[in-house]
This record gives sequence, C-alpha cells and structure tokens, in this order.
Amino acid sequence: MSDDSISADGMPATETVAERLMRFLFALRSRGVTDTRVLTAMEKIDRGIFVRGLFAERAYEDMPLPISCGQTISQPSIVGLMTQALNLQPRDTVLEIGTGSGYQAAILSQLARRIYTVDRHRRLVREAQDTFRELGLVNITAFTADGSYGLPDQAPFDRILVTAAAEDPPGPLLAQLKVGGIMVLPVGQSDAVQSLIKVTRLDSGYEYEELRPVRFVPLVEGLGVE
Ligand code: SAH
Repeated sequence: MSDDSISADGMPATETVAERLMRFLFALRSRGVTDTRVLTAMEKIDRGIFVRGLFAERAYEDMPLPISCGQTISQPSIVGLMTQALNLQPRDTVLEIGTGSGYQAAILSQLARRIYTVDRHRRLVREAQDTFRELGLVNITAFTADGSYGLPDQAPFDRILVTAAAEDPPGPLLAQLKVGGIMVLPVGQSDAVQSLIKVTRLDSGYEYEELRPVRFVPLVEGLGVE
C-alpha cells in the first residue's frame, strides 16, 4: 500500500501554508540571511504573487525562476543577502536597476522610505506596477528606462541595488550615490560567474568589497522590444 501523504520527492504532499513559509525562511537562514528585519520583510512579502504561470508552485524554493521577457526572478537567498548588504535605514531613498518581477523592490519597500525601480522592458514594469498596486505598496515608483544611466532627476540615492550584471559599475550610478551611500551589484562577464560587490562612497572616492560569486542576467543597453 502506498503512503500518499509523502510525494515522490520525499516532500510532504500536504504541506500547509505555514509549514511552507517555515521551510522558506529556514532555507534563507541556512544560506546566511540572518538580519531579522530582512527576514521579517521576506516573511511578509509572498514570493508566490510575483511568480506567474507555470512556475508559480516552485515560488517557495530557493531557486531563480523564469518570468516574462526571458528574464528571471532572483533566488530568494540572493535577494536576502543583497538586501542585507545594503544595510537599509528607514529614511533611505533607494534606486533598484532591474525591476523584473518586482519582488526585490517589494522587499526593499518594507525597509526604506522610498523605492525607485527601473527596467528596460515596458511589460515587466507594467506587470510589476499592477502587483505593487494589488499589494498596496505605495512607496515604490517604477519606470521603463535604461538603468545604466540611473535616474538623474531623482538622484542622489542613499542606496543603489543593481540586479543585472555589468562588466564594471556604471559611472552614472556611482555618481548618483550619496557620500556615505552603499551600492550593491554583480560585476563580470555575462556568461561567466560574476562577483557580487559592495561599493561605499567615501568623502573622496569609493571603497570596494567583494561579497560572493553570483550569476545574474546581463545589464543590456537600450530599451527592450516589449
Ligand atoms: N530584481 C528582479 C530580478 C531582475 S532580473 C526581481 O526581483 O524579480 C534582471 C532585470 O534587469 C531584467 O528584468 C532585465 O530586463 C533588467 N535589465 C537588464 N538590463 C537593464 C538595463 N540596462 N536597464 C534596466 N533594466 C535592465
């Protein structure tokens, strides 16, 4: 006789929402996301809402997943580690490059005062705006633009987060960071392992710290076709 309370992959077939959330948070902690403010934000913002379609049921696993326009929603533990590295303060104004699904921006919205997020795909920006509205996240503003140039009209920023990889930190983004501000971004060739780095703007110059190897989609010039 088979036991149908256990599925083929050994996972309980009848996991409750609470158990699923516990497993999600446990995975984050075991991969180094230890800041309780970040964990609380990730407990509150349901990743399932940002993963549409085919892959929705895998939203609580610690893996990147495909979204529209051939892009990906990042792995939750990487979202957590990047957010943690930003050391957000409640009054911060934050710029995110690479809105994608909007998940990372939604996490940021819980920890800072004002979030600007930019994507080169109009369709992703529209879908993310719908989700922000649905969730009542009123402190996020999303724009369609080439994020390599930042947002000169809203600059300077306390924090900048880039979720697509460039070979080097884009000059306009470095220029739009406040003194004392922090930027976290992946750098390196798009088809190889990249490094996640943390850049702090000092009174004169910048300090660079390498955090860990990562793999992101490339930062691409110009606007997308959809
Ligand atoms: N932060 C997202 C995941 C981003 S995937 C999330 O939480 O779901 C990287 C995103 O960067 C893609 O959506 C891609 O369209 C965008 N992107 C790539 N190059 C860009 C550029 N130059 N300007 C703005 N967005 C860019």
